[in-house]
Amino acid sequence: MRGGSRRDLDTKIKVLDSTALFIGFTEGGKTELVTCREVLEEVKYGGGQLRAAAIRGGGLVKILEPSHDYVERVRESALKAGEHDLSETDIKLLALALQLLDEGADVSIVTSDYSIQNLAEIMGLKVEPILHKGIKRVIKWTTYCEICGWRGEAQPGTPCPRCGARLKRKPSKEVSEKS
Ligand SMILES: [Zn+2]
Repeated sequence: MRGGSRRDLDTKIKVLDSTALFIGFTEGGKTELVTCREVLEEVKYGGGQLRAAAIRGGGLVKILEPSHDYVERVRESALKAGEHDLSETDIKLLALALQLLDEGADVSIVTSDYSIQNLAEIMGLKVEPILHKGIKRVIKWTTYCEICGWRGEAQPGTPCPRCGARLKRKPSKEVSEKS
């Protein structure tokens, strides 16, 4: 997309996830609504009602594909952040937003998904949460071992210092409700 498309600086772009598409998210003014093909397909094959919403949304929402480079960049960031709950579709959405941002667009992601929100914040992308209130801060994570129960300061994905299994992580809020 780079090079070919010059973007109007007044135009806001909103990248929609499947929930946004399903609820028929619209916005007036000079806002361009975009999504990627996988999202439309997720909604389309989700059942009769979803299909109807997709067809309604399909006319208003532009389908764009992120380039492979951006998909890889998001995949790497997800890995580093230990954000394992992202689907390929989620990664593509984030990649699309990142690419549009790099092209100079005023872009935000419209989503109800916490993992998308969290990684978007880490990557410096704007998020417009829908349905849920949105995260007020980036989630703090605890690294732990599923096998032996070790817990402590370590990167997820590295070997457990006690048993050598691959470390995982979970929100520390789950561990202590006090925060
Ligand atoms: Zn262990």
